[in-house]
Amino acid sequence: MPIRRLPPEAVNRIAAGEVIERPAAAAKELIENALDAGARRIVVAIERGGLASLRVEDDGAGIAKDDLPIAIERHATSKLVAGEGGDVDLLNIATLGFRGEALPSIGAVARLTIVSRAQGAGEAWRIDVEGGAVRPVSPIAWTGGGAGGTKVDVRDLFFATPARLKFMKSERAETMAITDMVKRLAMARPDVAFALESEGRVLFRASAEADPEGEGRRRRLAAVLGAEFAPNSIALDQTRGAVRLTGFAGLPTFHRGTREHQHLFVNGRPVKDKLIVGAVRAAYQDLLARDRHPVVALFVDLPSEEVDQNVHPAKTEVRFRDAQLVRGLIVGALSHALAGAGHRASTTTAGAALGAIRPHFAPQPPLRAWQAAETALTDFQFDAPSGRVFSAPSSPVYGGGVGDGGGAEAGGPPQSAALTAPPRAGEHDSDAVFFPLGAARAQVHETYIVSQTEDGIVIVDQHAAHERLVYERMKAHLAAGGVPRQALLIPEVVELDPAEAEQLLARAGELSELGLVIEGFGGGAVLVRETPALLGQIDAKGMLKDLVDDIAELGEAHALKEQLEAVCSSMACRGSVRAGRRLTAEEMNALLRQMEATPFSGQCNHGRPTYVELKLADIERLFGRR
Ligand code: ADP
Ligand code: MG
Repeated sequence: MPIRRLPPEAVNRIAAGEVIERPAAAAKELIENALDAGARRIVVAIERGGLASLRVEDDGAGIAKDDLPIAIERHATSKLVAGEGGDVDLLNIATLGFRGEALPSIGAVARLTIVSRAQGAGEAWRIDVEGGAVRPVSPIAWTGGGAGGTKVDVRDLFFATPARLKFMKSERAETMAITDMVKRLAMARPDVAFALESEGRVLFRASAEADPEGEGRRRRLAAVLGAEFAPNSIALDQTRGAVRLTGFAGLPTFHRGTREHQHLFVNGRPVKDKLIVGAVRAAYQDLLARDRHPVVALFVDLPSEEVDQNVHPAKTEVRFRDAQLVRGLIVGALSHALAGAGHRASTTTAGAALGAIRPHFAPQPPLRAWQAAETALTDFQFDAPSGRVFSAPSSPVYGGGVGDGGGAEAGGPPQSAALTAPPRAGEHDSDAVFFPLGAARAQVHETYIVSQTEDGIVIVDQHAAHERLVYERMKAHLAAGGVPRQALLIPEVVELDPAEAEQLLARAGELSELGLVIEGFGGGAVLVRETPALLGQIDAKGMLKDLVDDIAELGEAHALKEQLEAVCSSMACRGSVRAGRRLTAEEMNALLRQMEATPFSGQCNHGRPTYVELKLADIERLFGRR
């Protein structure tokens, strides 16, 4: 077949396939154009998910009459200036657009009308493109407010490419994608007012904020992510080299079921960059179950020559010159912030618990109400966050001085999480209420510790809390060179299935690094000589059986140290503080003090909270005292 040049309409339709794969992508291009034009106010109106109609109005610079026909030409842009010899500096891009592809692509596959009045010009002009056919510019009365601006009206998107139209999801899904897109751009630019309407109904509105890098950003994020985000997140601000990271990291207990709640921006451009996504995952790795995801809003700012923004037609991916630096910055800043948050758990946790014990649950017997509270805790909810968790000290200030056996993280690895620590000399019960997790008052159902704080009560899931403590201790010990072991006075013989025993003994070396020393004893018998000291007394048989299961599940390839989480929870499960064991007051208080001194103790290894706090004020409200 002879080689032919494609006609321009075909070229534009092909480009449209990449640049505007769905209505949300078209909305993004038009909003970015408005932002590039310096708009302070952007109104987006859609019908039928943007497929019937998508309109974007702005009060930006506008387009002069003579520029209108050029704006809809392919590769025509006002945002890059070619130097001598025609070269352009693609590493020095300060605008969101630069490829000159959006308007011609949209014009090729839809009915496009642009009405614009350049700032300061007397009259407004209009141009129409229908499936690639351009009509001449004509004058039109300006109905937009202010001195000028631009209205871009896109009707019957993809009417000229029926194949693409077939691939559209439901109108509802497209509406949601557009909403998401508008919100992402709104997060990047708190200084600009945004409104989104669908079929005349307002879906999102945010007024312009002063101080877009400080308080204004916080307010805008609250407008987009909800009021719960601020109290459940930690502010970040770190610089490495020329790269600055700001924004907010959601507490691990504030997790969600999808990654859609991770909002990433590079030099103000919303991106879905793999490097950043990977860095976020790494930072939260051992704080969340595999299928749960944190909520974050991260803003990476760096000199434009340090990042290539021209690697993706829709510009959602970027390439960093020094990828390791950026990754290190993100992982480091997030890990640091999360460690600093220590035992903070999400405020929504208390909210959910309160919701569950509200009077409308009253007809149920009390036990049922608590079960409901538990369900509410696992099925994380955004609503009803009326409870509050104390605001955590930014570093574990209780770390040093809390009980000698209480795990002072500061000086070397702690000795024991086995809760044998007596309260510090001179520490009276009345003092203990001033600790964040308060003074233990009771243990209920051999599972929960109820403690009194200065202005509320705390309910701790003793098992979840202990599991977390063991895990953090193990990590600290391993990093410091080894897990302390305690020799059993009389070694315990555990009978296992011979094949299981063999599997377990094959990993004996690794297990001894984790504090568990075992030997073969003939047949299926295994001799347990030493156990991890931090577990206290253990049920050796149960633990070995759990470990056999873990090892079978992990397969040969995985080092136990890498699977520490699984191994620790199996060990902690058989340690002294499992659910169903009665604890003394000393043990309970020791556990509370250790939690306060341990990073990440606000959630168990699966991101479930280890405790909830109910403020007296909320409890009083429950009883109608307020
Ligand atoms: P790009 O944004 O990559 O330059 P587009 O096809 O999106 O390409 O737009 C082409 C040109 O039209 C822009 O460079 C800009 O000069 C002009 N333009 C588009 N939209 C607007 C707008 N809302 N306000 C002012 N100028 C605009
Ligand atoms: Mg553009």
